Amino acid sequence: MPHNKNIRTYLSSPHMSAEGYEMQYIQEAFDTNWIAPLGKNVNEFENELATKVGAKHAAALVSGTAAIHLALKAAGVEEGDIVFCPTLTFSATANPIIYQNAIPVFIDSDYETWNMDPKALEAAFEKYGDRVKAVLVVHLYGLSADMDPIVELCRKHNVTLIEDAAESLGTTYKGKHTGIIGDYGIFSFNGNKIITTSGGGMLISDNEERIAKVRFWATQSRDKAIHYQHSELGYNYRMSNVLAGIGRGQLRVLDQRIAKKKYIFEFYKSELGGLERVQFMPINEWNQPNYWLSCITLHGKVRPLDIIEALEKENIESRPIWKPMHMQPFFEKYDYIGGDISEKLFENGVCLTSDTKMTDGDLERVCGIIKRLW
Ligand SMILES: *Cc1c(COP(=O)(O)O)cnc(C)c1O
Repeated sequence: MPHNKNIRTYLSSPHMSAEGYEMQYIQEAFDTNWIAPLGKNVNEFENELATKVGAKHAAALVSGTAAIHLALKAAGVEEGDIVFCPTLTFSATANPIIYQNAIPVFIDSDYETWNMDPKALEAAFEKYGDRVKAVLVVHLYGLSADMDPIVELCRKHNVTLIEDAAESLGTTYKGKHTGIIGDYGIFSFNGNKIITTSGGGMLISDNEERIAKVRFWATQSRDKAIHYQHSELGYNYRMSNVLAGIGRGQLRVLDQRIAKKKYIFEFYKSELGGLERVQFMPINEWNQPNYWLSCITLHGKVRPLDIIEALEKENIESRPIWKPMHMQPFFEKYDYIGGDISEKLFENGVCLTSDTKMTDGDLERVCGIIKRLW
């Protein structure tokens, strides 16, 4: 049967459990009329996620971006402080630095990890010394950064380390989940992530007092008083009990999703690995990725746009690699430390269609369209 082109194949879109777990948790919330505020699903989602990754405490929030914002605030980042941030990332990593009126300094990637280059980070510390308040490291596309040298540099300079693990839930570095290696970790449950609550995020830490403080800020900083009293700036950042129900259901299929993402990566590797001048994203021996997106770089005459446009003609979504922050009109005025590796990854990279609902037939179709370009 020919494929129906009206059905779009997405890069990475929501995939609810076949078992209907999400609806069971939502139903519970409805049955008790606890759709808001907070409630059992929120508490349990925090506990279950913390247990899954080995964190001591977690706060469920409205988005990954909100989680980064409150992680920076918890780290004491204030006006004029410097925060180191990888240049190769989604803007949601960097925006909260500006919300705090702090100053981002962007750091290049290395080819070994595609993530923050520890050597560039070291150079950045040499330049900025004790003006640095925090380092935000990202685990792009589910690949972990090389954390040991980054942790060591942060310790040496007595700086808080925050992991943006929005794309890497389930990824491990030397046996430890990404998100628990630094002082704070954040996850996103946006619609395109490996599991989703439609929108949502989580902040994790072993520091109980700081997580309690995050929950306080996220519910309008209400002091303990019968009247409404506020001695600090507040935010409306807490996750709803309905969405937390979706998250609990999704968490039960996280391992299935990782297995399928890995299968997709291996499928592409066996079908496209032989094409001239194609390289796959780096899988290091200390890195057990969640394979959120399967990404390649092109070093011959076929360019990323050739692939993206050929797939788009067949109603299949693929994307370039993130455009580095130091090349963005909004962020280009900030300092950048490193060479041209992130620029090269952006210039040559493609994120291939990595939706877990794809069948073998869909994967073959994508590979066929790509192979015809060679
Ligand atoms: C998705 C994403 C975020 C933001 O998460 P939201 O839940 O969409 O706010 C932050 N950082 C990275 C690297 C992301 O991919």
